[in-house]
Amino acid sequence: MPGEFDLIDKYFNRPATSAILGVGDDCALVMPSPGMELAITTDMLLAGRHFSPTDGPGTIGHKALAVNLSDLAAMGATPRWVLMSIGLPDANEKFLKGFTGGFFALAKKFGVELIGGDTTRSGLLTISITAIGEVPAGKALRRDGAKEGDDIWVSGTLGDAAAALAHHQGALRLTTEEAIACFPRLFVPTPRVELGLALRDIAHACIDVSDGFAADLGHILERSGTGAEVEFESLPLSPALKAHEQEDAARNCILAGGDDYELIFTASPDKRPEINALSTKLQLPITRVGHIISWSGRSATDDATRLSIRRHGEQLKLNRTGFDHFGTP
Ligand code: ADP
Ligand code: MG
Repeated sequence: MPGEFDLIDKYFNRPATSAILGVGDDCALVMPSPGMELAITTDMLLAGRHFSPTDGPGTIGHKALAVNLSDLAAMGATPRWVLMSIGLPDANEKFLKGFTGGFFALAKKFGVELIGGDTTRSGLLTISITAIGEVPAGKALRRDGAKEGDDIWVSGTLGDAAAALAHHQGALRLTTEEAIACFPRLFVPTPRVELGLALRDIAHACIDVSDGFAADLGHILERSGTGAEVEFESLPLSPALKAHEQEDAARNCILAGGDDYELIFTASPDKRPEINALSTKLQLPITRVGHIISWSGRSATDDATRLSIRRHGEQLKLNRTGFDHFGTP
C-alpha cells in the first residue's frame, strides 16, 4: 500500500517550470509578472454532491480544474498556478491515475502549473482546488461594472449540462442523439479562458454560469445596481434544447440549470462589431440576449423583478431558486 508521500510524488509532483518552487516544500514560491494583479479563487467538489463517485476519474479531474479556470476566465485572468487539496477514502491508484490524467491534460492546455496542495484520508472523496491567475492592474472583469444601456451577451449555449442531468434523473427525456450531445457539457465542461482574456478591453461586467443563467445574471445586476430585460427567444440553445423548448423541464434547464460554465457579460453597444468578430475568431457563438436598464430609485421589494425575461411578449415569473411558472404562448 503506497503511503501519502509516495502518492504525492507519483501523482502530483511535476517539475515546476513557471513557479520558482513547486511541490515538495512547505510553501510554493511564485513571482507575479510586473504590473499584474493576482486573481485567486477556490472551489470544492464533494462526491455525491458535485459529481457521482461512479463518474469516470478522468472527468472528475477535468471538472475539478475546469470550474476553477472558469472563475478565472470570468475575471479576465490568465491561469497560472493551482493548489489541490484532496481527501481520499483509500489509496486507490486506479482512481488517482485517471483523475490526474484528466486534471493534467486540462492544466497543460491552459499552461497552468500544480504547485502544491494537501493529501489526506477522508470518508468522502473531496477535492478542493485553488487557482491563481494574473490580470493587468485595473482590468479585471468584475460583476459590478454593468452600465445602463449595455448589451447583455452569452457565450455558447445554455442548459445543456442541466439537461444531461435532468435526463439522467428522469425529469427530461432526451433522444439518444440529444443525450450524447449534452453529456460532455456536464462531465467535461470547457472553461472559456480565451474569451475571458479577449473581453478585458471590451466587457464592463462578467460572470460565469455555474448556478444558472437567471441567478448568475442576477448577481451582475445586484452588484451593479441595475436591472435587465431579456428575450427568451434570443437565448442561445443547442439543437437538443431547441427541440424541447416547449417543455417546462427544458426551460428550467435553460434559465435555472447550473454547470454551463459559459460567460455572461455586458458591453457597450458600440462593441458589437468587435464582439461578433471575436465570436468568429474563437469559433464560439456569442449571442446578444438583452440589455441593462436603470434600477435607481426602486425599492428593495422590487429586487425580485430586476431581471425581466419575456417569452412571446409575456413575462416569465421567477423566484430565487428558479422558475415557478412558465407563461404559455
Ligand atoms: P506539509 O506537511 O508542509 O503540509 P505535506 O506533507 O502535506 O506538507 O505535503 C508535501 C508537499 O506535497 C507540499 O509541498 C505540498 O504542497 C505537496 N502536496 C501534497 N498534496 C498535494 C496534492 N494533492 N497536489 C499537489 N501537491 C501536493
Ligand atoms: Mg499537508
